[in-house]
Amino acid sequence: LVGNESVTFHRICVCVRKRPLNKKELGRKEVDVITVPDMSSVLVHEPKTKVDLTKYLENQNFHFDYSFDESVQNDTVYRFTAQPLVHTIFQQGMATCFAYGQTGSGKTHTMGGSFVGKEQDATKGVYAQAAADVFKLLEQPEHSQKKLEVCASYFEIYLGKVFDLLNKKSRLRILENAQHEVQIVGLKEEPVYDLSDVLRLISSGNSCRTSGTTSANQHSSRSHAVFQIILRKRQSGKLHGKLHGKLSLIDLAGNERGADTANSDRNTRMEGAEINRSLLALKECIRALGRKGAHCLSEEAN
Ligand code: ADP
Ligand code: MG
Repeated sequence: LVGNESVTFHRICVCVRKRPLNKKELGRKEVDVITVPDMSSVLVHEPKTKVDLTKYLENQNFHFDYSFDESVQNDTVYRFTAQPLVHTIFQQGMATCFAYGQTGSGKTHTMGGSFVGKEQDATKGVYAQAAADVFKLLEQPEHSQKKLEVCASYFEIYLGKVFDLLNKKSRLRILENAQHEVQIVGLKEEPVYDLSDVLRLISSGNSCRTSGTTSANQHSSRSHAVFQIILRKRQSGKLHGKLHGKLSLIDLAGNERGADTANSDRNTRMEGAEINRSLLALKECIRALGRKGAHCLSEEAN
């Protein structure tokens, strides 16, 4: 999703990624019901039963801007999804990339990084790859003269409340200012100078994230996590200069079928209901963007 203060268009790009069957699914001899025949469509093979009880598969074709099969790695997914948005923020744009999907479908794997053995390699995630590209672009002559500084913020939305993952998980308030811009009051913005700074922030932020166990994923993220890379014009004597561009990378909490949490405790069921409610609100927002045809993101709006 790309917006810009001065440009009155937006475009939403939707991509889908298939993950490999996991050990549990293979152990249960589950059938792989999805094929990715090319870079822009997905075939779903839905098991059906005829009236005479013979079973058959009904194929349904869905089209996307890009589709990735299970052999595709994080770097390729990044190249086709978030990488173009990095260029947008250098052109004073505001851009957002959401990972959306059922719990266990690979959102955190895509955004945060892949596992190598038991260790998570964060450098392979969209967060880190985007940050690495920001630092690379900063060095190019056309951008190096702009005197830009890079900051990062990381917060989560859990049960409708916002917590700063870079500031001891302190509760943040959301207010609307006189210009009707939504602001997250007191959200910490850390200056970052290289990729290792960013990886350090992600790792300390991740250790604060709210997670829980669902039947679909043992380490399920129960909150929406928003990692932002912010470009500001350096201004002498000021801690934070004027906003130049902002990239929000969002690992949404997993949308769940009621059945996934049906046997869980009350808290887990409540979390599930809240997650689905907030995802519905997000859907309405995206729909409204589509209807309006134009969406302006204001300067300081988070
Ligand atoms: P989500 O955040 O959507 O709930 P995760 O990213 O935590 O799901 O993924 C669930 C499990 O599946 C993790 O152990 C993750 O490493 C694994 N996984 C997800 N996507 C892939 C993939 N494309 N290749 C290999 N393993 C994957
Ligand atoms: Mg997750």
